[in-house]
Amino acid sequence: MKTLATCSDGTKIEAPRWYRNQQRLAEFQRKRKPRKVRKLHAKIANRRLDFLHKEPTNLVNDRELIVVGDVSSSKLTKTTMAKSVNDAGWSMFRHLLEYKAIARKVAYREVSERFTTQACSCRGAMGGPKGRKGLEIREWVCDECGAVLDRDVNAALNILRLGHQSLLAEGR
Ligand SMILES: [Zn+2]
Repeated sequence: MKTLATCSDGTKIEAPRWYRNQQRLAEFQRKRKPRKVRKLHAKIANRRLDFLHKEPTNLVNDRELIVVGDVSSSKLTKTTMAKSVNDAGWSMFRHLLEYKAIARKVAYREVSERFTTQACSCRGAMGGPKGRKGLEIREWVCDECGAVLDRDVNAALNILRLGHQSLLAEGR
């Protein structure tokens, strides 16, 4: 999982690659080099923190509404993507996104992700990838309208629509 988040406008936020550094960290640990371990640890922590603050700020800038799917990273960490999900600190990312949105008076909503990858964002026809197997399918064609859909952008559009619906239901 190289992409940390996909936006409804098609923007994809790449997960930073700290693995290489983490591999080096393991090597230093194995070779018992505590000074190098400490130094590299601090470097990784700094970069991580920097990323986790900058990216949510960029997302919130010039927006009026942020809608996020309620996928939990714990569900994902059971799969082979565990390392990258942990690395990117998805839950911390989401938490900071909410925090920055509220700080800037941007509406923030979390909606259920159920069916958001399966339904076509144009008319809601079901036919998209499903379940864990479906994770490999990155692009699909809607039987009903013939649209070629990027799995994640389509899901993001559905999530955005659900967010609009929830705002309407609240009378905003
Ligand atoms: Zn369609």
